[in-house]
Amino acid sequence: MVNQPIFERESVTHILVVEDEPSLCQLLVNNLSFEGYSVEAAGDGVPALVAHAARRADLIVLDLMLPHMDGFAVLKALRDRQDEVPVLMLTARGEETDRVQGLSLGADDYLVKPFSVLELMARVKAILRRTRPTERPPMLRSGPFRFDLPRLEAKRDGRMLDLTPREFRLLEILITHSGRTHSRKELLQLAWERDARPTARTVDVHIANLRRKLGEEQGAPWIATVGGEGYRWVTPVETETA
Ligand code: CA
Repeated sequence: MVNQPIFERESVTHILVVEDEPSLCQLLVNNLSFEGYSVEAAGDGVPALVAHAARRADLIVLDLMLPHMDGFAVLKALRDRQDEVPVLMLTARGEETDRVQGLSLGADDYLVKPFSVLELMARVKAILRRTRPTERPPMLRSGPFRFDLPRLEAKRDGRMLDLTPREFRLLEILITHSGRTHSRKELLQLAWERDARPTARTVDVHIANLRRKLGEEQGAPWIATVGGEGYRWVTPVETETA
């Protein structure tokens, strides 16, 4: 089994993350890279514009409060030169005027801090679906299961599984990198909010629930426990063209 994402794209979607808080920036870069996007980071407005000029981003995740050139100025600079690159703004809690100003300057969407990684991923995908309609990932099939990732739907033998968003996210991580073992720490980082304080035990509980919903009591292990290491999706995953 190979450790590579199954979505082989002709041209990989490139995302520029502009965020001056190192830990948040790293978290966003890790998660977006894990999803298969090509990701570049900048910690201020000018480096962001330079990076975008050097390699055009398909989407910019833009923090408003930056050390020297803030997000508004970056957005205005882009729109002034008729650059319609989609922009997802990150704003501080309760700054209603910021959101209004950002949207009037031509931001495509905004997220209020603190936000969950799940929410960010959903917004990024929604914007890309709107702006790059051909980017829709394929349906996936594995054993008796069929997954529609954009719609957050999982079916077993044609029957819809009733998964929580978190269970679906765990499932998505496991199936899009099937055959690879994910440590509990990695799953915590990818599927939980950064402000949440879950433990490795939390992962075990969610995996147990997910297994029950997948129907593992019928004897076939879909998710293997790799002793001391973590979890792995066992059955091969195939893409399915619509
Ligand atoms: Ca900031």
